[in-house]
Amino acid sequence: MTDAAVVDASAGAERVRVRFCPSPTGNPHVGMIRTALFNWAYARHTGGTFVFRIEDTDSARDSEDSYSALLEALRWLGLTWDEGPEVGGPHGPYRQSQRLDIYADVAERLRVAGYAYQCFCSQDELEARRELAKAESRTPGYDGQCRNLTESQVAAYVAEGRVPVLRFRMPDRDFTWDDLVRGDITFGKDHVPDYVLVRGNGEPLYTLVNPVDDALMRITHVLRGEDLLSSTPRQLALYEALAAIGVSDGTTPRFGHLPYVMGEGNRKLSKRDPESALQMYRDTGYLPEALLNYLALLGWSMGDDQEFFGKELMSEHFTLSRVNPNPARFDLKKCTAINGDWIRALSPEDLIDRIVPFLADAGVVTNPPTLEQQQVLRAGVPLVQERMETLGSSVSMLAFLLVPNERFEMDEADAAAVLTPDSAVTIDAAIAAIDAVETWDTESINEALRSALIEGLGLKPKLAFGPVRVAVTGRRVSPPLFESIEILGKAVTIARLGVARAGL
Ligand code: GLU
Repeated sequence: MTDAAVVDASAGAERVRVRFCPSPTGNPHVGMIRTALFNWAYARHTGGTFVFRIEDTDSARDSEDSYSALLEALRWLGLTWDEGPEVGGPHGPYRQSQRLDIYADVAERLRVAGYAYQCFCSQDELEARRELAKAESRTPGYDGQCRNLTESQVAAYVAEGRVPVLRFRMPDRDFTWDDLVRGDITFGKDHVPDYVLVRGNGEPLYTLVNPVDDALMRITHVLRGEDLLSSTPRQLALYEALAAIGVSDGTTPRFGHLPYVMGEGNRKLSKRDPESALQMYRDTGYLPEALLNYLALLGWSMGDDQEFFGKELMSEHFTLSRVNPNPARFDLKKCTAINGDWIRALSPEDLIDRIVPFLADAGVVTNPPTLEQQQVLRAGVPLVQERMETLGSSVSMLAFLLVPNERFEMDEADAAAVLTPDSAVTIDAAIAAIDAVETWDTESINEALRSALIEGLGLKPKLAFGPVRVAVTGRRVSPPLFESIEILGKAVTIARLGVARAGL
């Protein structure tokens, strides 16, 4: 039996329900997509449910743009959700900003039942006591000052005009859980002080809304980044309270913390690193399949050293026992190489469909392309598919085949390097040879140029074809020259050679 079966047995007869619950702040980044992917794959692997929830209770930081970008990102990647925004489901609404009355109700019930209490300490007082604790080498963190206020003390604070926060009363004991990725983890009671659930202005915090929704949405497995490890003991304690007041059905989800993703040097990949932004991958032409393939490797492996796989195959094999607790290193070069593998695996027709938007954005083709452009694409794409690393790179590789001569430009440095006065003879001979080609195909073009430049002028191939290549394709590195000339046609080729000759 696979280890998945062992792990899944923990969920008993209950079907697996996992969630991806980002906060809509800023732009989607690869770390969060990795989390979404692992949850999606686990749901698909187990035949469970992938819940998508938006944690937008922080009105100062959340934005509607970011919300739309998240939905759009999951759609682009094909990570379909079973319950969530726009899809609905039995536990909706799935945007926390639409569930505020639920949190207010739960918060009040926690307070009445004594699991939470009003705390009147001001920020300044808390800060001063934290400093003192540090100075006296005591563990900083809330010191329990308001834990057991009498009614008259509460009344006095209220009369003073103080506005209370709601604070959770942590049980006086250690918390241990068997993490699905990291095994047994224990947090000692001194390290998990009472914490705030609701702000003074009534705004509920992540500490409350996340576990409340996990409970109400019957989440069975919480798979999330290691940075959230320290919130787990708090959530386990809150779960017990939620069960006691009848909000949860008494089951606690299993927790699994996915490894950190490290960036350059030895530090965590930050949201601010350019390679972190999902949009960068879309803009430069990474295939969603390739990006997911690469993100899957950040902490998970298929076994057998297989590194090229689609998300369906990943989900077939996705077991938590293969999630590696050690930090994973984000390597843009490897991600790009995998993208190249995916590009090579596409049929030329599929690749053409995918590069057209990039070529159209660069003004190289119309969208949809004209019949003539389609012909050029069908002939030109197989010449460059092998070397294309991103869809965006198709622009620099193919533009010379698609733009009219008026818009054709040679790379200045390349032109300066090879189109020297000495090359005038070469270009003249090339023009004459091309002009004389009768059967217009690669073989005849090849023969004509070889016999004129190599045999006729006695040039070495590099010297012979370098100037012709830059004159016709614009660059010293280009798709195969004779094939390119064939696609361009005799008139266009001769005109370009003529322009280059005139500039010498
Ligand atoms: N909204 C939280 C975040 O984006 C979710 C964390 C969790 O998965 O519990 O960090």
